[in-house]
Amino acid sequence: MYDSHVHSENSKDGHDSVQKIADYLPNVGIVSCAITDHCELVKETQFDDVRKRMEKIEAEIEEVNEAKKNNIMFGIELGSAQMDTALAEKIINSFNFDVILGSVHSVPDFDDVYKLREGTDAERIRRVLKSYFDEIKKLVIWNKFDVLTHLWYPVRYINLQEQIFFEFKTEMEEILSLLAQNNKALEVNTKASGKDLTPFILTCVQLFAKNGGKFITLGSDAHYVEDIGYDFNRMIKMLHDCGFKYYVYYKNREPITVQI
Ligand SMILES: [Zn+2]
Ligand SMILES: [Zn+2]
Repeated sequence: MYDSHVHSENSKDGHDSVQKIADYLPNVGIVSCAITDHCELVKETQFDDVRKRMEKIEAEIEEVNEAKKNNIMFGIELGSAQMDTALAEKIINSFNFDVILGSVHSVPDFDDVYKLREGTDAERIRRVLKSYFDEIKKLVIWNKFDVLTHLWYPVRYINLQEQIFFEFKTEMEEILSLLAQNNKALEVNTKASGKDLTPFILTCVQLFAKNGGKFITLGSDAHYVEDIGYDFNRMIKMLHDCGFKYYVYYKNREPITVQI
């Protein structure tokens, strides 16, 4: 199995070294993973800071790959690239990434969507979700990434009102249809959130398939090695039941199929 979304200690919220991650993979039947540390395109983001961090990560991956004959992939999770596409493109063009993940965590006039857990007022959730899907749509129209990550990110944080997410099925379908037309991948993100996300994952996967989507990646979004490959066997079975014959991982920004 291949895990296309793992954070190392080079993300603020990551905990383990690239070396430790590489050593851990065989324990959970993972052949290889992509190290996809965070890079949020917020006002404070300076290219030089990103460059230094990415050079460090790339060197660590190279060292591990040479020493262990491993094949860890070098990726990045670009957060809100649609907010500063010039900088996002400069970053993408400055490194030999294997995979670019596109994500949205924060929305205008709010903050990181995870802060929804602080209030469960339904109208507030609707406003934030509307803005969230608007931003994702801009990201997908921009189209310079490979994989759209955790489309159901807000669901992790909506306390007891997760069903509101389904009110945005039209927006979701529009996004997933565009993604499919662009031949980009949808990530089945398995990060545990203390609740069962299966209905949300299934809805997105089915909408993607219905609109011609072909490429699905698996991403644990692990911030600790123990979470690498989490729930992959169950998700692979779900993909199979949805009619997928393979999932993909990315090498040199090209999808490589893995039969299921
Ligand atoms: Zn993320
Ligand atoms: Zn992540």
